[in-house]
Amino acid sequence: MMTLTADGNNRHPFIVEADTTSGYWSNHPDNTLPPPDMMGAYMRNRPYPANQIEGRKGWIIGSGIAGLAAAFYLVRDGAVKGEDITIFDALDIEGGSLDGAGNAEDGYIIRGGREMNWNYDNLWDIFQDIQAIELPSGYSVLDEYRLINDNDPNYSKARLMHKQGQIRDFSTFGLSRSQQWQLIRLLLKRKENLDDVTIEDYFSADFLQTNFWFFWRSMFAFENWHSLLEMKLYMHRFIDAIDGLNDMSALVFPKYNQYDTFVRPLVEHLKKQGVKFEFGARAYDLEWRDEEGKCTVTGIRMLNHGAADLISVNEKDLVFVLTGSMTEGTAYGDMNHAPVLQRGRHDPGNDSDWALWKNIAKKSSLFGKPESLTENELSDFSGL
Ligand SMILES: Cc1cc2nc3c(=O)[nH]c(=O)nc-3n(C[C@H](O)[C@H](O)[C@H](O)COP(=O)(O)OP(=O)(O)OC[C@H]3O[C@@H](n4cnc5c(N)ncnc54)[C@H](O)[C@@H]3O)c2cc1C
Repeated sequence: MMTLTADGNNRHPFIVEADTTSGYWSNHPDNTLPPPDMMGAYMRNRPYPANQIEGRKGWIIGSGIAGLAAAFYLVRDGAVKGEDITIFDALDIEGGSLDGAGNAEDGYIIRGGREMNWNYDNLWDIFQDIQAIELPSGYSVLDEYRLINDNDPNYSKARLMHKQGQIRDFSTFGLSRSQQWQLIRLLLKRKENLDDVTIEDYFSADFLQTNFWFFWRSMFAFENWHSLLEMKLYMHRFIDAIDGLNDMSALVFPKYNQYDTFVRPLVEHLKKQGVKFEFGARAYDLEWRDEEGKCTVTGIRMLNHGAADLISVNEKDLVFVLTGSMTEGTAYGDMNHAPVLQRGRHDPGNDSDWALWKNIAKKSSLFGKPESLTENELSDFSGL
C-alpha cells in the first residue's frame, strides 16, 4: 500500500526516495522514533492527537484488509473522525480477496484459504480491539481466535507424500551443512543485489530436492523459477515459524471463512465509527502537485458506476491507494468446465484496478514499473 500525504506532521519526516533501496530507516537525533513497522507492546500507545487537523479527511481506495486496516488506524491512532473517512471499491462488496460466498445447496466458494501465524502482529493488534462474533460483549475477535486454535490446534499427519500416496518422512528439513549455508547467505544478502535472480539460479539442484524446499514451496506457493528476492523477503517474514514448518503446527486458522471472521466484524466496527463505503467506484488516476519529487495528491479520478468523477483532495487530507487486487479477474471452473481467462495476459486493460497503478507510474518513477509484473501471466500472482 502506498501512502501519499499532505504533510500534517513533519517533525520526523522519513524521506521516501524514488529508489527505495537507497533509503534506510536509521535513528539519529532528528529521528528518535521507533521504526514504523515495529510491533509490540511499546506500539500500543494511544497517540494524543496533538497533530490532528480539524476536518482532515481520509480517502482510501480498496476495501480489502489493507484498506480496512488503514481506516481502523486512522480512527484509532490518527484521531481522524470516522465520518471523515471514505473507502471506495470497484466491487460491490467489501473485503477484496478475503471473501466467502455460497450456500449449503450450491456449495461455498472462497478465493483461497488463509494460513496465518502468531506473528501477524498488525492483524492481531487490530483484532484485539474488535468485538468477537460469537463471544459475549467485551471479548475480541483475537480472543475468539485463540480459543479455537488453542483447543483445536493445527498440525499435519502427512505433510509430504511420495510414491503414489505413501507418507514420506517429514520429521527433518534434510538440509546438509552446505545447504544450510545457502539459506544463511541468502538471509545476509542485500536486496538490491537480487534483481532478476531466480530461486534455481541461486540454490544448488540438490537443495531443490530437500524436505525443506518441499515444505517451503508448498506452503508459500513458490516455483523454482520465481524471484529469489521474494523468497528472501518471505524468509525474513516467517523465520520465527520455522520450527512448525515441517508439520504446519506453526499455523493458525479461523473457525469460519475470512470474510465472516475478519471482514464482517471489522466493517461493522468501522461503520459504527461513521466510516463511509462507496462501491462500484473504480479509481483510475491521481492528480497531484509535484514539488521537487514530493507528490501531493490534489484529486482522485474515478469511474463511479461508470460515470467519470473527480474527488477533490485538500492539502491536509490523507490518500491511501492500492496498486491493484491479486484476485481481480478471478475465473471459476468446476468439475466439467475449465475457468476462462477473460482478460489479456499482457495488459489487464483500462477497465482494471491495475489501471490506477499504470497511470501514476507513467507520471512518476516513484511508483516503479507495473509492466514488469503484467508482462508475465497475472496468474503468477500469489501471495501470503
Ligand atoms: C489464493 C490465495 C491464497 C492466499 N493465501 C494466503 C495465506 O495463506 N496467508 C496469507 O496471509 N495471505 C494469503 N493470501 C494473500 C492475502 O489474501 C492478500 O495479501 C490480502 O487479502 C490482500 O489484501 P489487500 O487489501 O491488499 O488487497 P485485496 O484483498 O486484493 O483487496 C483490494 C480491494 O481493492 C479494490 N481495488 C483495487 N484497486 C482499486 C481501484 N483502483 N479502485 C477501486 N477499488 C480498487 C479491489 O476491488 C479489492 O476489493 C492469499 C491470496 C490468494 C489469492
